[in-house]
Amino acid sequence: MNPNALNFSGGPGALPAVVLDEAREALAALPETGISVLGMSHRSDWFRDLLEEAETNLRQLLGLSDDYAITFLQGGSSLQFAMIPMNFAGSRFAAPEYIASGYWSKRACGEAAKVGASRIAWDGTASGFRQLPALERLDLDPNAAYLHYVTNETVEGLQFPTCDVDMPVPLIADMSSDFLSTPINANRYAMIYAHAQKNLGPSGVTVAVIKRSMLERIPDGLPAILDFRTHVTHGSNYNTPPVFAIYVLTLVTRWLRDDIGGVHAMQVINRRKAQRLYATLGELGEAVAIHAEPQWRSQMNVAFTFGDARLDSAFVAEARERGITGLEGHRSIGGLRASLYNAVTEEAVATLCSALMEFCEERV
Ligand code: PMP
Repeated sequence: MNPNALNFSGGPGALPAVVLDEAREALAALPETGISVLGMSHRSDWFRDLLEEAETNLRQLLGLSDDYAITFLQGGSSLQFAMIPMNFAGSRFAAPEYIASGYWSKRACGEAAKVGASRIAWDGTASGFRQLPALERLDLDPNAAYLHYVTNETVEGLQFPTCDVDMPVPLIADMSSDFLSTPINANRYAMIYAHAQKNLGPSGVTVAVIKRSMLERIPDGLPAILDFRTHVTHGSNYNTPPVFAIYVLTLVTRWLRDDIGGVHAMQVINRRKAQRLYATLGELGEAVAIHAEPQWRSQMNVAFTFGDARLDSAFVAEARERGITGLEGHRSIGGLRASLYNAVTEEAVATLCSALMEFCEERV
Protein backbone atom coordinates (compact mmCIF):
# COMPACT_ATOMS: atom_id res chain seq x y z
CA MET A 1 0.00 0.00 0.00
CA ASN A 2 1.17 3.55 -0.74
CA PRO A 3 2.73 4.99 2.47
CA ASN A 4 0.35 7.97 2.23
CA ALA A 5 -2.49 5.51 2.75
CA LEU A 6 -0.90 4.22 5.95
CA ASN A 7 -0.40 7.57 7.64
CA PHE A 8 -1.94 7.51 11.13
CA SER A 9 -0.47 10.86 12.16
CA GLY A 10 -2.28 13.07 14.67
CA GLY A 11 -2.03 15.96 12.20
CA PRO A 12 -1.20 17.10 9.65
CA GLY A 13 -2.58 13.73 8.69
CA ALA A 14 -3.75 11.56 5.85
CA LEU A 15 -5.48 13.13 2.86
CA PRO A 16 -7.58 11.25 0.30
CA ALA A 17 -5.48 9.80 -2.55
CA VAL A 18 -7.60 11.53 -5.20
CA VAL A 19 -7.08 14.88 -3.49
CA LEU A 20 -3.30 14.39 -3.37
CA ASP A 21 -3.35 13.59 -7.11
CA GLU A 22 -5.39 16.69 -7.94
CA ALA A 23 -3.20 18.87 -5.72
CA ARG A 24 -0.06 17.52 -7.42
CA GLU A 25 -1.47 18.48 -10.80
CA ALA A 26 -2.55 21.91 -9.54
CA LEU A 27 0.99 22.65 -8.36
CA ALA A 28 2.08 22.49 -11.99
CA ALA A 29 -1.02 24.12 -13.47
CA LEU A 30 -4.65 24.40 -12.51
CA PRO A 31 -6.83 22.89 -15.24
CA GLU A 32 -9.06 26.00 -15.16
CA THR A 33 -6.33 28.65 -15.46
CA GLY A 34 -3.14 26.99 -16.75
CA ILE A 35 -1.27 28.63 -13.84
CA SER A 36 0.17 26.93 -10.75
CA VAL A 37 -2.19 27.15 -7.78
CA LEU A 38 0.77 28.57 -5.84
CA GLY A 39 0.84 31.60 -8.14
CA MET A 40 -2.87 32.37 -8.19
CA SER A 41 -3.85 35.80 -6.94
CA HIS A 42 -6.22 36.02 -4.03
CA ARG A 43 -7.95 38.81 -5.95
CA SER A 44 -8.60 36.64 -9.01
CA ASP A 45 -12.07 35.54 -10.14
CA TRP A 46 -10.83 31.97 -9.77
CA PHE A 47 -10.15 32.48 -6.06
CA ARG A 48 -13.41 34.31 -5.50
CA ASP A 49 -15.26 31.34 -7.03
CA LEU A 50 -13.18 28.93 -4.94
CA LEU A 51 -14.06 30.66 -1.68
CA GLU A 52 -17.70 30.62 -2.67
CA GLU A 53 -17.57 26.90 -3.42
CA ALA A 54 -15.71 26.09 -0.19
CA GLU A 55 -18.38 27.90 1.77
CA THR A 56 -21.28 26.34 -0.14
CA ASN A 57 -19.86 22.84 0.28
CA LEU A 58 -19.32 23.30 4.01
CA ARG A 59 -22.78 24.78 4.44
CA GLN A 60 -24.26 21.77 2.69
CA LEU A 61 -22.17 19.19 4.58
CA LEU A 62 -23.05 20.79 7.92
CA GLY A 63 -26.70 21.52 7.12
CA LEU A 64 -26.04 25.08 8.19
CA SER A 65 -28.66 27.82 8.08
CA ASP A 66 -28.10 31.38 6.88
CA ASP A 67 -27.98 32.47 10.53
CA TYR A 68 -24.30 31.49 10.39
CA ALA A 69 -21.28 33.04 8.72
CA ILE A 70 -18.38 30.86 7.59
CA THR A 71 -14.87 32.31 7.61
CA PHE A 72 -11.46 30.96 6.65
CA LEU A 73 -8.81 32.19 9.07
CA GLN A 74 -5.09 31.79 9.72
CA GLY A 75 -3.19 31.31 12.98
CA GLY A 76 -4.52 27.79 13.56
CA SER A 77 -6.84 26.80 16.35
CA SER A 78 -4.37 28.33 18.80
CA LEU A 79 -5.28 31.80 17.57
CA GLN A 80 -8.92 30.97 18.22
CA PHE A 81 -8.05 30.24 21.85
CA ALA A 82 -7.18 33.95 22.11
CA MET A 83 -9.63 35.50 19.64
CA ILE A 84 -12.72 33.91 21.18
CA PRO A 85 -12.40 35.56 24.61
CA MET A 86 -11.24 38.82 22.99
CA ASN A 87 -14.38 38.91 20.83
CA PHE A 88 -17.03 37.28 22.98
CA ALA A 89 -16.18 37.67 26.68
CA GLY A 90 -17.62 41.17 26.86
CA SER A 91 -18.27 43.04 30.09
CA ARG A 92 -22.05 42.69 29.60
CA PHE A 93 -21.76 39.00 30.49
CA ALA A 94 -20.46 36.90 33.35
CA ALA A 95 -17.06 35.22 32.86
CA PRO A 96 -16.99 32.58 30.12
CA GLU A 97 -17.00 28.94 31.24
CA TYR A 98 -14.41 26.44 30.09
CA ILE A 99 -14.22 22.66 30.22
CA ALA A 100 -10.66 21.46 30.89
CA SER A 101 -10.84 17.93 29.51
CA GLY A 102 -7.40 17.44 28.01
CA TYR A 103 -4.20 18.94 26.67
CA TRP A 104 -5.83 21.20 24.06
CA SER A 105 -8.78 22.44 26.08
CA LYS A 106 -6.34 23.30 28.88
CA ARG A 107 -4.42 25.42 26.41
CA ALA A 108 -7.66 27.20 25.57
CA CYS A 109 -8.29 27.79 29.30
CA GLY A 110 -4.81 29.27 29.71
CA GLU A 111 -5.26 31.72 26.86
CA ALA A 112 -8.71 32.81 28.06
CA ALA A 113 -7.31 33.50 31.52
CA LYS A 114 -4.80 35.92 29.97
CA VAL A 115 -7.55 37.87 28.21
CA GLY A 116 -9.83 38.29 31.23
CA ALA A 117 -11.81 36.50 33.91
CA SER A 118 -12.90 32.97 33.04
CA ARG A 119 -14.24 30.02 35.00
CA ILE A 120 -13.40 26.34 34.78
CA ALA A 121 -16.76 24.53 34.75
CA TRP A 122 -15.17 21.06 34.86
CA ASP A 123 -11.59 19.88 35.22
CA GLY A 124 -10.32 16.41 34.42
CA THR A 125 -6.68 17.10 35.29
CA ALA A 126 -6.68 15.14 38.56
CA SER A 127 -7.89 11.94 36.89
CA GLY A 128 -5.36 12.24 34.05
CA PHE A 129 -7.94 13.13 31.38
CA ARG A 130 -9.54 9.73 30.98
CA GLN A 131 -13.19 10.80 31.17
CA LEU A 132 -15.48 13.63 30.12
CA PRO A 133 -18.41 15.32 31.83
CA ALA A 134 -22.02 15.20 30.61
CA LEU A 135 -22.64 18.64 29.10
CA GLU A 136 -26.22 18.84 30.35
CA ARG A 137 -25.18 18.26 33.96
CA LEU A 138 -22.65 21.09 34.22
CA ASP A 139 -23.40 23.77 36.76
CA LEU A 140 -23.15 26.87 34.57
CA ASP A 141 -23.77 30.52 35.29
CA PRO A 142 -26.70 31.34 32.97
CA ASN A 143 -25.20 34.79 32.38
CA ALA A 144 -21.85 33.37 31.26
CA ALA A 145 -20.63 34.81 27.97
CA TYR A 146 -20.28 31.27 26.57
CA LEU A 147 -19.17 27.72 27.32
CA HIS A 148 -16.04 26.58 25.47
CA TYR A 149 -15.11 22.94 24.99
CA VAL A 150 -13.07 20.69 22.73
CA THR A 151 -15.32 18.03 21.18
CA ASN A 152 -12.47 15.60 20.58
CA GLU A 153 -9.33 15.62 22.69
CA THR A 154 -6.71 14.75 20.09
CA VAL A 155 -3.94 13.86 22.54
CA GLU A 156 -5.82 11.68 25.06
CA GLY A 157 -8.33 10.19 22.60
CA LEU A 158 -11.53 11.36 24.30
CA GLN A 159 -14.63 12.41 22.40
CA PHE A 160 -17.88 13.98 23.51
CA PRO A 161 -21.05 12.60 21.93
CA THR A 162 -22.68 15.15 19.62
CA CYS A 163 -24.41 17.87 21.63
CA ASP A 164 -28.10 17.08 21.56
CA VAL A 165 -29.34 19.44 24.22
CA ASP A 166 -30.06 23.14 24.24
CA MET A 167 -27.42 24.66 26.48
CA PRO A 168 -28.30 27.60 28.76
CA VAL A 169 -25.36 29.63 27.42
CA PRO A 170 -23.85 30.06 23.92
CA LEU A 171 -21.85 26.96 23.08
CA ILE A 172 -18.44 27.33 21.42
CA ALA A 173 -16.71 24.18 20.21
CA ASP A 174 -13.19 23.45 19.03
CA MET A 175 -13.86 20.62 16.56
CA SER A 176 -10.35 20.60 15.13
CA SER A 177 -9.96 16.85 15.32
CA ASP A 178 -13.47 15.57 14.61
CA PHE A 179 -14.97 18.15 12.27
CA LEU A 180 -17.10 16.51 9.55
CA SER A 181 -16.38 13.04 10.90
CA THR A 182 -19.89 12.58 12.23
CA PRO A 183 -23.17 14.49 11.81
CA ILE A 184 -23.78 17.31 14.26
CA ASN A 185 -26.63 19.66 14.87
CA ALA A 186 -24.59 22.69 13.87
CA ASN A 187 -27.45 25.04 14.63
CA ARG A 188 -27.07 24.34 18.36
CA TYR A 189 -23.71 26.12 18.45
CA ALA A 190 -22.80 29.79 18.79
CA MET A 191 -19.49 29.04 17.12
CA ILE A 192 -17.60 26.03 15.78
CA TYR A 193 -13.99 26.14 14.68
CA ALA A 194 -11.61 23.61 13.25
CA HIS A 195 -8.18 23.86 11.73
CA ALA A 196 -7.79 22.01 8.47
CA GLN A 197 -4.91 19.67 9.17
CA LYS A 198 -6.97 16.72 10.42
CA ASN A 199 -10.11 16.19 8.38
CA LEU A 200 -10.07 19.10 5.96
CA GLY A 201 -6.72 19.56 4.25
CA PRO A 202 -3.24 20.89 4.95
CA SER A 203 -2.36 23.22 7.82
CA GLY A 204 -2.66 26.95 7.22
CA VAL A 205 -6.40 27.50 7.28
CA THR A 206 -8.92 27.33 10.10
CA VAL A 207 -12.66 27.26 9.49
CA ALA A 208 -14.78 29.32 11.86
CA VAL A 209 -18.57 28.99 11.74
CA ILE A 210 -20.11 31.85 13.68
CA LYS A 211 -23.73 32.59 14.51
CA ARG A 212 -24.33 36.04 13.09
CA SER A 213 -26.09 37.25 16.25
CA MET A 214 -22.81 36.65 18.17
CA LEU A 215 -21.11 39.29 16.02
CA GLU A 216 -23.20 41.96 17.74
CA ARG A 217 -21.42 41.19 21.03
CA ILE A 218 -17.96 42.06 19.75
CA PRO A 219 -16.48 45.14 21.41
CA ASP A 220 -15.16 47.95 19.21
CA GLY A 221 -11.47 48.71 19.23
CA LEU A 222 -9.97 45.28 18.57
CA PRO A 223 -7.16 45.19 16.01
CA ALA A 224 -8.90 44.55 12.68
CA ILE A 225 -7.26 41.20 12.07
CA LEU A 226 -8.40 39.90 15.48
CA ASP A 227 -12.01 41.03 15.04
CA PHE A 228 -14.27 38.33 13.56
CA ARG A 229 -16.37 41.03 11.89
CA THR A 230 -13.43 41.98 9.66
CA HIS A 231 -13.25 38.49 8.20
CA VAL A 232 -17.00 38.16 7.79
CA THR A 233 -17.29 41.60 6.13
CA HIS A 234 -14.37 40.95 3.78
CA GLY A 235 -15.51 37.45 2.87
CA SER A 236 -12.30 35.87 4.27
CA ASN A 237 -10.20 38.04 1.93
CA TYR A 238 -9.18 40.93 4.20
CA ASN A 239 -5.48 40.13 3.83
CA THR A 240 -3.79 37.48 1.70
CA PRO A 241 -5.43 34.18 2.62
CA PRO A 242 -3.70 30.77 2.38
CA VAL A 243 -4.82 30.11 -1.20
CA PHE A 244 -3.31 26.63 -1.49
CA ALA A 245 -4.74 25.40 1.82
CA ILE A 246 -8.20 26.68 0.88
CA TYR A 247 -7.87 25.02 -2.53
CA VAL A 248 -7.08 21.62 -0.98
CA LEU A 249 -9.83 22.08 1.61
CA THR A 250 -12.29 22.61 -1.25
CA LEU A 251 -11.10 19.42 -2.94
CA VAL A 252 -11.61 17.55 0.35
CA THR A 253 -15.16 18.87 0.71
CA ARG A 254 -15.93 17.69 -2.86
CA TRP A 255 -14.49 14.26 -2.05
CA LEU A 256 -16.53 14.01 1.15
CA ARG A 257 -19.72 14.99 -0.64
CA ASP A 258 -19.30 13.11 -3.94
CA ASP A 259 -17.04 10.13 -3.26
CA ILE A 260 -18.05 9.34 0.33
CA GLY A 261 -21.65 10.57 0.12
CA GLY A 262 -21.64 13.13 2.94
CA VAL A 263 -21.14 13.20 6.67
CA HIS A 264 -23.67 10.46 7.54
CA ALA A 265 -21.92 8.04 5.21
CA MET A 266 -18.57 9.15 6.68
CA GLN A 267 -19.81 8.39 10.18
CA VAL A 268 -20.70 4.81 9.22
CA ILE A 269 -17.17 4.25 7.86
CA ASN A 270 -15.53 5.99 10.83
CA ARG A 271 -17.51 3.84 13.27
CA ARG A 272 -16.40 0.66 11.55
CA LYS A 273 -12.75 1.79 11.60
CA ALA A 274 -12.78 2.67 15.29
CA GLN A 275 -14.70 -0.47 16.26
CA ARG A 276 -12.20 -2.62 14.43
CA LEU A 277 -9.19 -1.05 16.11
CA TYR A 278 -10.70 -1.01 19.62
CA ALA A 279 -11.79 -4.63 19.14
CA THR A 280 -8.25 -5.62 18.17
CA LEU A 281 -6.83 -3.80 21.19
CA GLY A 282 -9.49 -5.53 23.29
CA GLU A 283 -8.35 -8.93 21.99
CA LEU A 284 -4.82 -8.13 23.09
CA GLY A 285 -6.15 -7.96 26.64
CA GLU A 286 -3.64 -7.11 29.35
CA ALA A 287 -0.88 -6.48 26.82
CA VAL A 288 -2.21 -3.01 26.04
CA ALA A 289 -3.83 -0.19 27.98
CA ILE A 290 -6.17 2.27 26.26
CA HIS A 291 -5.92 5.75 27.74
CA ALA A 292 -9.61 6.73 27.68
CA GLU A 293 -12.36 5.07 29.67
CA PRO A 294 -14.70 3.08 27.39
CA GLN A 295 -17.63 5.50 27.43
CA TRP A 296 -15.54 8.39 26.15
CA ARG A 297 -13.30 6.71 23.61
CA SER A 298 -12.66 8.75 20.51
CA GLN A 299 -13.42 7.50 17.01
CA MET A 300 -10.70 9.75 15.67
CA ASN A 301 -7.69 9.28 17.98
CA VAL A 302 -6.94 6.01 19.71
CA ALA A 303 -4.33 6.56 22.43
CA PHE A 304 -2.85 3.39 23.92
CA THR A 305 0.36 1.86 25.20
CA PHE A 306 2.03 -1.50 25.70
CA GLY A 307 2.91 -0.15 29.13
CA ASP A 308 6.61 -0.13 28.37
CA ALA A 309 8.28 2.64 26.35
CA ARG A 310 10.66 0.12 24.75
CA LEU A 311 7.80 -2.01 23.46
CA ASP A 312 5.97 1.07 22.19
CA SER A 313 9.09 2.14 20.27
CA ALA A 314 9.62 -1.38 18.96
CA PHE A 315 6.09 -1.39 17.58
CA VAL A 316 6.57 2.01 15.94
CA ALA A 317 9.74 0.66 14.27
CA GLU A 318 8.11 -2.57 13.11
CA ALA A 319 5.07 -0.73 11.80
CA ARG A 320 7.34 1.63 9.88
CA GLU A 321 8.89 -1.34 8.10
CA ARG A 322 5.41 -2.11 6.76
CA GLY A 323 4.96 1.50 5.62
CA ILE A 324 2.75 2.44 8.61
CA THR A 325 3.68 5.82 10.10
CA GLY A 326 2.51 8.47 12.55
CA LEU A 327 1.91 6.17 15.53
CA GLU A 328 3.98 7.98 18.15
CA GLY A 329 1.87 9.31 21.03
CA HIS A 330 1.82 13.03 21.80
CA ARG A 331 4.91 14.19 23.69
CA SER A 332 2.77 15.12 26.72
CA ILE A 333 1.59 11.54 27.46
CA GLY A 334 3.89 9.35 25.35
CA GLY A 335 2.72 5.89 24.33
CA LEU A 336 1.09 5.32 20.97
CA ARG A 337 -1.72 6.98 19.09
CA ALA A 338 -3.47 5.93 15.91
CA SER A 339 -5.44 8.75 14.33
CA LEU A 340 -8.32 7.54 12.19
CA TYR A 341 -9.23 10.76 10.39
CA ASN A 342 -11.71 10.74 7.52
CA ALA A 343 -9.10 10.00 4.85
CA VAL A 344 -7.73 6.92 6.66
CA THR A 345 -9.28 3.96 4.87
CA GLU A 346 -10.77 0.80 6.36
CA GLU A 347 -8.08 -1.13 4.52
CA ALA A 348 -5.39 0.90 6.29
CA VAL A 349 -6.97 0.16 9.67
CA ALA A 350 -7.08 -3.55 8.81
CA THR A 351 -3.35 -3.41 8.00
CA LEU A 352 -2.63 -1.70 11.32
CA CYS A 353 -4.70 -4.28 13.20
CA SER A 354 -2.79 -7.17 11.58
CA ALA A 355 0.50 -5.48 12.47
CA LEU A 356 -0.63 -5.16 16.09
CA MET A 357 -1.72 -8.80 16.34
CA GLU A 358 1.49 -10.09 14.79
CA PHE A 359 3.66 -7.86 16.97
CA CYS A 360 1.94 -9.15 20.09
CA GLU A 361 2.25 -12.77 19.06
CA GLU A 362 5.99 -12.35 18.60
CA ARG A 363 7.03 -9.82 21.23
CA VAL A 364 4.54 -9.45 24.06
N1 PMP B 1 -7.27 22.11 19.24
C1 PMP B 1 -7.14 20.78 19.00
C2 PMP B 1 -8.29 19.88 19.35
C3 PMP B 1 -5.96 20.28 18.45
O1 PMP B 1 -5.84 18.97 18.21
C4 PMP B 1 -4.90 21.18 18.15
C5 PMP B 1 -3.60 20.72 17.55
N2 PMP B 1 -3.46 19.46 17.18
C6 PMP B 1 -5.08 22.53 18.42
C7 PMP B 1 -6.28 22.96 18.96
C8 PMP B 1 -4.01 23.54 18.09
O2 PMP B 1 -4.07 23.77 16.73
P1 PMP B 1 -3.04 24.64 15.89
O3 PMP B 1 -1.75 23.89 15.88
O4 PMP B 1 -3.70 24.72 14.55
O5 PMP B 1 -2.93 25.95 16.54
